[in-house]
Amino acid sequence: KHYTKDDIRQLIQEENVEFLRLQFSDMFGTIKNVEVPISQLEKVLDNKAMFDGSSIEGFVRIEESDMYLFPDLDTFMIFPWATDSHGGKVARLICDIHNVDGEPFVGDPRSNLKRVLKDMEAMGYSNFNLGTEPEFFLFKLDENGNPTTNLNDKGGYFDLAPLDLGENTRREIVLEMEKMGFEVEAAHHEVAPGQHEVDFKYADALEAADNIQTFKLIVKTIARKHGLYATFMPKPVAGINGNGMHVNMSLFTEGKNVFFDENGEEKLSETAYKFLGGILEHAQNYTAITNPTVNSYKRLTPGYEAPVYVAWSGSNRSPMVRVPASRGQSTRLELRSVDPTANPYLAFAAILESGLDGIRRELTPTDSVDQNIYLMDEKERRKAGIRDLPDTLLDAIDHLEEDEIVKGAMGPTMSRTFVDAKRLEYRSFRQQVSQWELDNYLEQY
Ligand code: ADP
Ligand code: GLU
Ligand code: MG
Ligand code: MG
Repeated sequence: KHYTKDDIRQLIQEENVEFLRLQFSDMFGTIKNVEVPISQLEKVLDNKAMFDGSSIEGFVRIEESDMYLFPDLDTFMIFPWATDSHGGKVARLICDIHNVDGEPFVGDPRSNLKRVLKDMEAMGYSNFNLGTEPEFFLFKLDENGNPTTNLNDKGGYFDLAPLDLGENTRREIVLEMEKMGFEVEAAHHEVAPGQHEVDFKYADALEAADNIQTFKLIVKTIARKHGLYATFMPKPVAGINGNGMHVNMSLFTEGKNVFFDENGEEKLSETAYKFLGGILEHAQNYTAITNPTVNSYKRLTPGYEAPVYVAWSGSNRSPMVRVPASRGQSTRLELRSVDPTANPYLAFAAILESGLDGIRRELTPTDSVDQNIYLMDEKERRKAGIRDLPDTLLDAIDHLEEDEIVKGAMGPTMSRTFVDAKRLEYRSFRQQVSQWELDNYLEQY
């Protein structure tokens, strides 16, 4: 949807919008917002809204803290649920962050994704289409309203009520999403108890990333309304499946899917194979971005439908990349390692640069693995050229630091800040003593 300034002025009048929320995301994918009364509208539309960047994590030093918010008019949306006491509505605009000199700020993940998309356009592609499958848990709240890890049902994959107590919540999430312009393709209970998934139609990279941020906000808001807590944490409960966020992707040129080739091997184009080659080549190195928390690595373990090895398949669901059976405009690669703690703007930039690197260097993917990798031993995996995904955040950061292409996808400033912040996060985790250690060592030694 495209909006002009006049469209927005008109909608605001007609719908009685009284507040504007100016949204952006920090380096860790956390949504931030500044709310301004509608009297500030003209200032906002003229890119003159300011905020103090030094108060946002991973942003800037105090001495250069003034930042401007440049709203992306096409992201204008009225929240269906947020109204003030006299019925006035609240709308949002997603913004890019610019320096005082007017240039895009290098620490803004959204502006950074735009920069990377220009590399793609320079190579002759017009769209990087992304359809994600974010999973989440619905947990009960305690008597003080704080989240617990008590599961709210005992349901499993595709179960129906009454086992699926989250059904009403999920249905309302879907209805709110539709009111906000999402095309929801499917919503279902996932494998683990209390776990759900909502799939919505793919979009071009920037919109797809914006959609994920909006989706998380909707899910958390509606869950609260139903007295539940929604979390996208990758592995909140040990021993059951975690939350993934599979990323389906394809490149389009002038409305045509360039991953499809009627006469290609498996009806995939040469471009698709090279892109896949790049995705596999850099897999260990962008994992710190697609799986950026200590907890992410507790999901990437055998036995819970999450990948552990760098491999691809056209038929099997266990590898990191699957090529779903659909062809034509739906021809796509599905990257299954990503989890919903990834900052979508950074993750898409890193995945895209890796794929484009595969095209530039004409990389050939390793052979597809059509047997269950979990039944292969290490020697068999080595022979088939199958590498392991990093098994801790520390391992992932070490890999990232070695890869100029993946670091380049974030730009020098943001990659440095990201690596430093993640090393600190890992160190802070390492200093904790867990229940597992007490259970295993306290009495034994
Ligand atoms: P799964 O088979 O893994 O359950 P789903 O059917 O749940 O996959 O999700 C498919 C996702 O792929 C949806 O978000 C859909 O919009 C998206 N998709 C379909 N075609 C394309 C395409 N050409 N490029 C990118 N994503 C696509
Ligand atoms: N929850 C699984 C994961 O951690 C994915 C299940 C599925 O195939 O949808 O990735
Ligand atoms: Mg799923
Ligand atoms: Mg999937």
